[in-house]
Order: sequence, then C-alpha cells, then structure tokens
Amino acid sequence: MSYKIVCIPGDGIGPEVVNEAKKVLDCVAKAGNLEFQYEDILMGGCSIDACGEPLTDEAIATAKAADAVLMGSIGGNTATSPWYKLPPEKRPEAGLLKLRKSLNLFANLRPAVLYDELAAACPLKEEISAAGFDMMIMRELTGGLYFGERSTKEVDGQLVAVDMLTYSEEEIRRIAIKGFEIAMKRGKKVTSVDKANVLDSSRLWRKVVEEVAKDYPEVTLEHMLVDNCAMQLVKDPKQFDVILTENMFGDILSDEASMVTGSIGMLASASLNDTKFGLYEPSGGSAPDIAGKGIANPIATILSASMMLRYSFDLDEAADAIDAAVKQVLKDGYRTIDIMPQDEESKSKVTLVGTSRMGDLICERIK
Ligand code: NAD
Repeated sequence: MSYKIVCIPGDGIGPEVVNEAKKVLDCVAKAGNLEFQYEDILMGGCSIDACGEPLTDEAIATAKAADAVLMGSIGGNTATSPWYKLPPEKRPEAGLLKLRKSLNLFANLRPAVLYDELAAACPLKEEISAAGFDMMIMRELTGGLYFGERSTKEVDGQLVAVDMLTYSEEEIRRIAIKGFEIAMKRGKKVTSVDKANVLDSSRLWRKVVEEVAKDYPEVTLEHMLVDNCAMQLVKDPKQFDVILTENMFGDILSDEASMVTGSIGMLASASLNDTKFGLYEPSGGSAPDIAGKGIANPIATILSASMMLRYSFDLDEAADAIDAAVKQVLKDGYRTIDIMPQDEESKSKVTLVGTSRMGDLICERIK
C-alpha cells in the first residue's frame, strides 16, 4: 500500500525533526511492506523568503492532493526576525492559519502522556505522577467564541465589548463523532467537558454528544463541567481517556494537560477534517534558540507521524511499533537535552544524544 505524504519542514528546528520522522516512517515502511511518498512544500518564514508570502496557493493545492500532511514548525525569533516587521497577515503564522482553513481542519487532537522514565519532570505530587496517565484532548477548532461575531462600542459613556459564542448541532456532531471514533481506538471512554449549568451552547453540546454516543455503545460517556475538569487534570489525570470539548475550553485544558507531562519536545498533535485527512505536527514551536545545533528532540514529530499512521491511514500496528520504540529508547536511558534529568545522580544514569542519533535509536528498536 502506498501513501502520499506532504511534508512541511518549515523553519528553525522544523527541517531537523521532520527528517527524523521520515527516517522512522521509512523504517516502519520497510518492516511492514508499505510505501510512503514524500513531497515537500514551503510554509512560514522560508516561504516568505522564497515566494514573498507565507503559503502559496500552489502549496495548498499540493497539500490538498496528499493523503496527509506532516509538519515541523514555522516561525522565527519574534523579537529579532525581519518576518515580524511584516503586517500580521504576511507573517509566518498566517501560513498555518490559511492552511488549516483551506483544509477545513476542525478537530484538534493533543495527546498528553506521562512516560514512567520522565515522571520526574511531572510537576504533580509524586503519588499522582506515579499512577501515570495517557489521555487525548479532542478540541473543536473552528467554532465557538474564537470565531463568533465580536464588537466593542460605547454604551452610556463606557466601552462595552461583546464576543459571541455560537455552536450549531452539526458543528458539535462532527467533532463528537471524531471523539468517539478516537475513543474506539483507545480506552473506550469519553469525558465530554462543558459548562452546561450556565451556557446554552453547552446544553446543546451535551444533548448532541448524548445522541452521538448511542452509536458507540462500547464507549463509556461521562459529562464533566470545565472548572471541575481543570481541577481533575492535576488531581487525578489517570481517570481520563478522551476529553472531548469545545474550542476555548480545549485551548486552556490542552495547555494544562501538556504542562503536567513535562517536556514540550515530547508532545505530538493532529488536526483533522471530516475525511481521514489530517495535519500532524509537534505542539512546540520552531525553537530558534537551538535551531541548527542538532540537539532538538525529534520525538514529538515522530509521535505525530505515528498519529498520522493511526488516524489517517488506519495503520494501528505500525503506529504501535513507533510508540513502543519511543518508550524503549527512553527505558534504555537515552535523552535529548530537553528531557535530561536535573540532578547529578539521575544524569549519570542516562546518555545524552542529539536529534539524529535519537532518530537512529528509535529506528533500531523498530527493526
Ligand atoms: P518554542 O516552542 O519554539 O520554544 C520554547 C522553548 O522550548 C525553547 O527553549 C525551545 O528551545 C524549547 N523547545 C521547543 N521544541 C523543542 C524540541 N523539539 N526539543 C528541544 N527543545 C524544544 O516556542 P517560542 O520560542 O515561543 O516560539 C518560537 C517560534 O515558534 C515563534 O516564531 C512562534 O510563533 C513559533 N511557533 C510555531 C508553532 C507552530 O509551528 N505550530 C507553534 C508554536 C510557536
């Protein structure tokens, strides 16, 4: 079976980490009789330099024709890079917003996993981190408060600002279906997060999620208010499998969940549309401070590639092989600089490696 993957190496550490993800994908291809064909497109600062804009229409057309997109990261140092002297719609990030919109990516997936070997980086109490956690935050990405009408006007001599929070049944249904589909591939539990004790949009959210749940009898559904969920994430994160929520709640909760895992270099993410198509990328940025030094952690991008295999190509076995290889490499004591332990005793028990060596080590464990 052959799959066409469009790669967006982007800026900063992007090209370095995408290279390692391709290396790992080629490894599973060899092991599993698969073929991945890659085509690179420019996006971000590199596209501004080459084409005068952060994303060209030709690049979008190429991405649309692919089975999935694998991205590194875009952008530069926002204080010093000339890209940030351009108007906002011409800056690197505008390329990503344009791509998400053109591809209709409405579902954002962010796993938050605590690896045993990295538990020391978890800021939670030891008795909580010792239990571990492995959750997926599914956030609606194109509706709600961030996309509603907004205005600021003067009323009775003072400024009044309004932001509209709107959700239609259809917008809720399509993300709920994605959430249940993902849960079927994981622990078969969905926690739908809302504020149904106050908001009409949340009451509609709850109603539609319950309707969708009827088609997934194997999946356990629970509802949780967003303020309680924020507490539960630091009190008992192990209880969660898939957290399904709207745009703003998901924005806040996914950042909270990622912080309790420890390192940004380990965090994968995906954005999906209503077909199998998805854009897969690490959660971190282009890390201009370490770009070109060969020390970036490629694991977030490698795990994003694994998500691509699982959610866009239904290659669960190949994805499992990558996830297991990553776990094994950590167990074998290899660390990039960002996940090095801080105390001298723990440091002496692990081996510091660079970006390319980490990719090689993961490949070796797949073979
Ligand atoms: P950043 O995530 O790039 O870096 C924050 C810190 O984390 C830095 O110290 C960096 O060295 C470290 N870090 C990040 N990824 C790492 C990795 N894989 N391995 C080791 N260390 C890693 O965030 P920032 O500095 O705020 O942003 C830099 C640029 O990235 C900005 O232009 C920003 O707009 C852009 N950005 C892009 C994306 C994206 O492409 N989706 C996301 C966030 C930020």
